[in-house]
Amino acid sequence: MNLILMGLPGAGKGTQAERIIDGYGIPHISTGDMFRAAMKNQTALGLEAKSYIDKGELVPDDVTNGIVKERLAEPDTEKGFLLDGFPRTLDQAEALDKMLTELNKKIDAVIDIHVEEDVLIERLAGRFMCKNCGATYHKIFNPPTEEGTCDRCGGHEFYQREDDKPETVKNRLTVNIKSSAPILAYYKEKNVLHTIDGNREIDEVFSDVKTIIDN
Ligand SMILES: [Zn+2]
Repeated sequence: MNLILMGLPGAGKGTQAERIIDGYGIPHISTGDMFRAAMKNQTALGLEAKSYIDKGELVPDDVTNGIVKERLAEPDTEKGFLLDGFPRTLDQAEALDKMLTELNKKIDAVIDIHVEEDVLIERLAGRFMCKNCGATYHKIFNPPTEEGTCDRCGGHEFYQREDDKPETVKNRLTVNIKSSAPILAYYKEKNVLHTIDGNREIDEVFSDVKTIIDN
């Protein structure tokens, strides 16, 4: 079973990825891990990627695609794999199809964990901190026991990091929605896209994931 997992930040993709790899015994292939492994093993492509990363530049598609292809050719992917964080662009999606054909493989399902933007903003932008001791809270998931008072130090002043502010979160989501739309459309056209409602309990979401994989 060759899978691609998609979902916006905060949609719960990481949790579902863990369940899938535990439940089905297939490797979790994320771009970050692949880059780290290629650099650590000092493969030709890994060293090339490193030269861009060291300069603070984006790794070009042909290098990224080469690293993905090397990874997908490894024997542990024989039973299947879960791709996460790749493809990020339509060009990469097309390159992926080409390399899979060369490897005699194909994508069986693309699972998109969908959560409305408003809900994601609520999830991602709810984090705040105590100004005095730095204790971290979340408006919904982890509020102080007594509203407006820090559990740890009794302080009353709180602040939000730039990254946790609603405007920043919204911008990040907008960028992500824009870049993933053509990829989702591409896989929809190929009849492999499955969209799951991610705004439910983890178990319920995973039960839908299982249904897709088992069919
Ligand atoms: Zn405090």
